[in-house]
Amino acid sequence: MHISALELHEATSYEDAAALLSRFSPDVRLLAGGTDVLVDLKNNANDVSHLVTLDHIEGIRGITEEGDGLRIGALTTITELNESPLIGGSYEIIRDAASQMATRQIRNTATIGGNIAGANPCADLPPVLIVLNAIAVVFSEQGPNEVPLHDLITGPRETILKQDELLAAIVVPRPPPRFGAAYARFGLRNGNSIAVATVAASLILDDDGAVHDVHVALGAVAPRPVKVDAANLWLEGRKLNGDSFDEVARAAMEVAQPISDVRGSAEYRRELVGVLTKRALMSAEKRAKE
Ligand SMILES: Cc1cc2nc3c(=O)[nH]c(=O)nc-3n(C[C@H](O)[C@H](O)[C@H](O)COP(=O)(O)OP(=O)(O)OC[C@H]3O[C@@H](n4cnc5c(N)ncnc54)[C@H](O)[C@@H]3O)c2cc1C
Repeated sequence: MHISALELHEATSYEDAAALLSRFSPDVRLLAGGTDVLVDLKNNANDVSHLVTLDHIEGIRGITEEGDGLRIGALTTITELNESPLIGGSYEIIRDAASQMATRQIRNTATIGGNIAGANPCADLPPVLIVLNAIAVVFSEQGPNEVPLHDLITGPRETILKQDELLAAIVVPRPPPRFGAAYARFGLRNGNSIAVATVAASLILDDDGAVHDVHVALGAVAPRPVKVDAANLWLEGRKLNGDSFDEVARAAMEVAQPISDVRGSAEYRRELVGVLTKRALMSAEKRAKE
């Protein structure tokens, strides 16, 4: 297997990147960390003649605190997420996921933008960003546009991004006080194993101990990350007790559409969803009380 001849274009601005994508479409792909793209090119899957790099675009890499939250540039690596002092407190759930991904070598190169835009159903960051109500900043030749992250991914390797569009950044709104969020992941071993099932959960506790604004999102168990809407319908305004999360776990198991593959059967994955949902909600509740 070899990579056929390619022309590399170094975009110097978001506009430039969008124009290059438009000019060479459909024979072009963006190259971020390349941990997925290079594997595809070696396998001659999604073969293209042009690659557009983003490294020379000012501000596309790094994490900044802005007004009402965090702005994470699309080219920010997984290692940078893990090591940033800004990823703590209410945002700790991002590190829950980023710290469990792949190997150090992959994490040093792989980017948040590639993890989202690659739209692999078992990608770790999308469910986490969905329960944080993250917004994707999408850039086209017409300029920037904001899309709820949940609406960006439509299926395996499918997003709403058009040929001339790229992901510029993710904006994560600052959560209110007494917010907690956590991620529960099951892989076949610790380190460098793709997730078999994942659950991200977030909630807010009020002064009386009642729970509000509950979000649960599942990964690796459906063609795209799925939200469990019943979680909030069931829990909103309730005071939590030992059984509170059982119904949500059952609802999550119903929402999941797992497949059977070498990593686990559909039945096994569905059971995992129930266990991980309770685990993520319990950790989120604990963090909300800290
Ligand atoms: C050994 C190995 C282990 C892995 N383990 C994990 C794991 O545990 N968890 C996990 O989630 N993933 C894992 N991955 C998958 C991959 O590393 C991640 O999804 C990574 O975050 C992809 O980022 P990248 O920068 O390398 O993307 P690239 O490979 O550069 O790009 C991926 C896709 O996204 C597109 N793209 C990239 N950036 C943008 C942008 N800004 N706007 C629009 N489109 C864009 C590219 O054109 C391409 O289609 C693993 C991969 C390997 C090889």
